[in-house]
Amino acid sequence: MANGYNGRILHVNLTNSSWKIEEPGEVWYRTYMGGSNFAAYYLLKELKRDVDPLSEENILIFACSVVTGAPISGFNRYTVAAKSPLTGAFGETEAGGYWGPELKFAGYDAVVIKGRASKPVYLWIHNGDVEIRDAGNVWGKDNWNTLETIWKEVGDKRVRVASIGPAGEKLIPFATVQNDMEHFNGRTGMGAVMGSKNLKAIAVRGTKKLKFADPGKVKEITRWHNDRIKTHPPNVGLTKYGTPGLVKGLNNAGILPTHNFRDGVFEGVDKIDAEAYHNTIFHSTGTCYACSVRCKRRVASDDEKYPLDPRFGGPEYETLACLGSLLENDNLPALARGNQLCNLMGLDTISTGCTIAFAMECFENGIITEKDTGGRPIRFGDADAMLWLIEDIANRRGFGETLSLGVKEAAEKIGNGAEKYAFHIKGSELPAHDGRGKTGMAMGYALSATGGDHVETPHDTAFQKNVGSLESLGILEPVRPLDTDYDKVRYFSLGQKAWGINNCLCLCNFCSVPIHAMTFAGLVDAVTAITGWNTSLFEIIRVTERSIVMPRVFNNREGFSPKDDRVIRRWHESFENGPMKGKRIDEKAFRDAIDLYYELSGWDKEGRPTRGKLVDLNLEWLIE
Ligand code: SF4
Repeated sequence: MANGYNGRILHVNLTNSSWKIEEPGEVWYRTYMGGSNFAAYYLLKELKRDVDPLSEENILIFACSVVTGAPISGFNRYTVAAKSPLTGAFGETEAGGYWGPELKFAGYDAVVIKGRASKPVYLWIHNGDVEIRDAGNVWGKDNWNTLETIWKEVGDKRVRVASIGPAGEKLIPFATVQNDMEHFNGRTGMGAVMGSKNLKAIAVRGTKKLKFADPGKVKEITRWHNDRIKTHPPNVGLTKYGTPGLVKGLNNAGILPTHNFRDGVFEGVDKIDAEAYHNTIFHSTGTCYACSVRCKRRVASDDEKYPLDPRFGGPEYETLACLGSLLENDNLPALARGNQLCNLMGLDTISTGCTIAFAMECFENGIITEKDTGGRPIRFGDADAMLWLIEDIANRRGFGETLSLGVKEAAEKIGNGAEKYAFHIKGSELPAHDGRGKTGMAMGYALSATGGDHVETPHDTAFQKNVGSLESLGILEPVRPLDTDYDKVRYFSLGQKAWGINNCLCLCNFCSVPIHAMTFAGLVDAVTAITGWNTSLFEIIRVTERSIVMPRVFNNREGFSPKDDRVIRRWHESFENGPMKGKRIDEKAFRDAIDLYYELSGWDKEGRPTRGKLVDLNLEWLIE
C-alpha cells in the first residue's frame, strides 16, 4: 500500500452486478490528489456528453483523497459527483463525518458507479470485499430507518452508511446523500442520481490501518493543529456556537438573506440566532472523524407540535437562514423540525428553503393563489406552511409536485411571470450569502461549475481587516468586500485556489486554510508526512487549479457559456434598508470582472481554458 492511500479505485457496474479494481499508480494520484479532481477525471474520461443525468449512463463517484483518514482535525471529507439533475452541469458535493475515512480503512480511495440495478440494492463494502445486496427492505424508508435496518442486516453498528431518503428515490433534483444523520452531501442532487440507479445506500466497514510516510510527524502536526484550534479565534467561535454563530454577525453586517434575497436584515434574528438556539433547542455537540472542533449541534424537544430528536441532527447556519430569515420565519422549533424532516426524507435544506421562499414571493405577488396551493395560503413568516410544503415536496404531492422541480423549472411550469422571483445560478438555488456584501463570493457563485456554491469561494469579509494566511499567497492588502476592481479579481483568483485545496484534498473548511487553524505551511508538511511526497504549496495550488479547469471543460462540453456566469437580478438592485442600504453590484462592472478573470486564468473570451492552459496543467488529454 502507498503512503496515505490504498492505490485502489473500486468500479461497480450495477447493470450487470459486477465490480473490478483499478490501480492507477502514483503519478495519477499525485496529479489529482483526490475528491473533486478524481470525480472530474472520471466524468470527463468516461461520461459521454449530453447524457440524461437520471439515465443509467450517468456515472456516480464517491471519492476520498490521498490524505483522508489521517488523524488530523478536518481530514475526513469525501466528494460525491455526477452530472447534476438540477443543473445539467458538473455536479459535486462534499460531506464530513466518518464515511470517507471508513472507505479508506475498507481498502478503497474512491468508488465509481455505472449502470442501473434492475431492482433496489445497496452496496456493502467491508475490508476489501464487495457485495451488491437487495434493498427491498429499506426502499421507501427514511434515512434513519434505513440506517437502523442496514445495521441489523450486517450485524454491526460501527458500519458507516451513506444513504438516500424517499426524496432521492423519487428523483427530486435536490435530493441529498447523507451519512450518520448529521453529515450531508447536500448540493446538486446527487441523491437523485443514486435513486435513478436504484442504489439506496453504500455501507462501509474497514479495519485496515493507513500507512504514513512519517507517522511521528503526522502525530506532531495533529497535536500542533489541535492546540491551534483551541486558540485560533474563528475556531474558538465554532467550538462554542457551531455555525449558528454566523447568523447574528451577517445580520449586523446587513447581508443575512431575508425575504427571498430581497433584504439583508431580519427583524426576528434574535429568535433564531446562536443564543436563542443554545437557550432553547440545543441538546449536545457532535463531531466528525478525529476532529477537535466539534462544531456539530444536535437539538431536542418534547413539544407535541414540533418534536425534535437529537439523533436527526440540528440546523446549521445555511439551514437557519434558508428555512429561517429567507422565509421570515422566526419560529426556531418549527425551523429545526423542518431541518429534521429534510434530513429524514433526504432533501437539501438550501434548495428546499429557496424553493419555498420563491413560492411565498409568488403568492405575495398573486402569481400563484390558494387555487394553486390546495386552498392553503403560503405567506412569509408562516412556519406551518413551511412544514407542510416540505412534506409535500418530499412526497411530490399537491403543489409540492411543482416545487419539487427546483425554482428554475417550477417557475417555467408556473409561468405568469414567476421567473422574476426564481433565484438560481445555472439552475442551482443559492446558499445563504448575499453577493452584494461580498463581491468575491458573488464571483465565485457566478463562476462555480456547480452553480452558486459557498464552499468553493473566498468570503471577502473575513479578510477585510487582516489578510491573515492569504499573505503567503501574495495578497498583502486588506480586501474591500464591495469592490469589483483589478484587486478584487486578483484576490478572487488566488482565494478561489486557496479554498479549492479543501475540495481536492477532502478537508473541512472549518479546520483548514485560509480562515481556520491549519496554515499553508502546516498543510504542506501534513501532505509530505502522510504521502512521503516532497511536495510544495506551488504543486498543491496547481492540483487545485485542475479542479477549477476540469469541471469548466465539462460544462463547456455540455453547452454552458459566459451568459451562465452571472449572479441573480436582485443583486444588481439596491438593498432598501439596513446598514447596506443603497448598495448593489453594478452589472457592467461585474461582467468586466468576470471577463478579466477569464483572461488572467488563461481562458478565452468564451470562457474556455486555452490549449496553453491545458498543457500548463498536464491536461492536454482534454484539448480535443
Ligand atoms: S469543524 Fe465541524 S464539520 Fe468540520 S470536521 Fe470538525 S466537526 Fe466536522
